[in-house]
Amino acid sequence: MNKYSVKCLICGEVHDPYTLNCKNGDESLLRAYYTAKQLIPTDMPGIWKYYNWLPVDGIIEEGSGRTVTYKSEALASELALDDLWIAFNGYWPEKGADLMTCTFKDLESFPTMQRIREQEEKRIMVVASAGNTARAFANVCSITGQPLLLVVPKESVHRLWTLHDDNHSICLVTVEGDYFDAISLAGKIAARDGFVNEGGARNVARRDGMGTVMLDAVLTSGKLYDHYFQAVGSGTGGISAWEASLRLLDDGRFGDKLPKLHLGQSRPCAPLYSLWKDEDSIDAACPDGMYDDVLFNRKPPYALKGGVKDVIEASSGDIYAVTNEEASAAQELFEKSEGIDINPAAAVAVATLVQAVKAGTVKPAEEIVLNITGGGQKRLVQDYELKQLPVSLEVSAKDEDAEDKVVKKVTEVFGI
Ligand SMILES: *Cc1c(COP(=O)(O)O)cnc(C)c1O
Repeated sequence: MNKYSVKCLICGEVHDPYTLNCKNGDESLLRAYYTAKQLIPTDMPGIWKYYNWLPVDGIIEEGSGRTVTYKSEALASELALDDLWIAFNGYWPEKGADLMTCTFKDLESFPTMQRIREQEEKRIMVVASAGNTARAFANVCSITGQPLLLVVPKESVHRLWTLHDDNHSICLVTVEGDYFDAISLAGKIAARDGFVNEGGARNVARRDGMGTVMLDAVLTSGKLYDHYFQAVGSGTGGISAWEASLRLLDDGRFGDKLPKLHLGQSRPCAPLYSLWKDEDSIDAACPDGMYDDVLFNRKPPYALKGGVKDVIEASSGDIYAVTNEEASAAQELFEKSEGIDINPAAAVAVATLVQAVKAGTVKPAEEIVLNITGGGQKRLVQDYELKQLPVSLEVSAKDEDAEDKVVKKVTEVFGI
């Protein structure tokens, strides 16, 4: 029997496990269904502890980490909550946290790369990102040697650090322009022969990799939660948390409730919030002025079957928007009370929790999991030297020859 099958949520048809879109044209995410109904943790390193609910046949031994979940005392007491659990994603050796690019994007990049290897993919993977995704894919490609073309906005290049000395499998291109210019250039290149897109939210490896946050949180506390909090840009992490919860409910050992999803965005650039509340909250200058621009995504997987709207409705959850002042106060509150630095995006989740507590939406005795999607970069700097990934080429979005220039550069860099 196969370990898992991949099905469309509308027509129910079983697809080839690596498919990204329903072949009957349904506007639906495809979802992985695992043959093993119970979560059985393994002794394997990092994220592979959750191997039996990951859509992979094999592992990348080196370098993978996982979420660390613990019960909060200090922040819980500040917020007068009795049962607050923190799912920490990042570097915090004192707690055993070892996601080496310091965000939960490492949970997506390893399973995605494992599947690229299973398919014996010879094409060059193209990733466009404002930073954290790019850093996570650069990390795993430096480990496996898979060629990678990264396309990032010039302003985001400071996020492209690495711990590896050898990054010869990476071609980093910066684009003068915004994130959308980077995405559109990357999209054009990925459509060419010899290149492949990793698929974003449609890729079950990315979602089930992120879903391990919920697996870890529930396995640690022993029960399903009342509430789940996360800062979102695309909302993929929220979808993943929901899918993982459905599997855990089906497992039967963790109780019979499903968590409400509370997803937080950053004002004034909160597209998911706008869609959900049917109110315009996107400034023309976006993503300028955001607390953390990794949370900006102009085309989130909102309305399709199994997307953000579906999971918020199914969970009776909500989408929030927080101001920079709220995020900054929440960051300080978290760092002081829990004693670890967090990524600004994660502070948006903390601020979302603060809003919900103030509004009385969550009750003191309820079981809550707070996804700290990134943290410990300052802690990492105490132990490691961060090196900037070298830029292979700079192009301008206005340059009509940008696409050709990038392809030429890739050919040079990889000697093909
Ligand atoms: C990507 C990212 C998010 C948002 O994740 P999505 O679930 O894809 O919207 C939140 N926090 C950090 C640190 C991230 O890198």
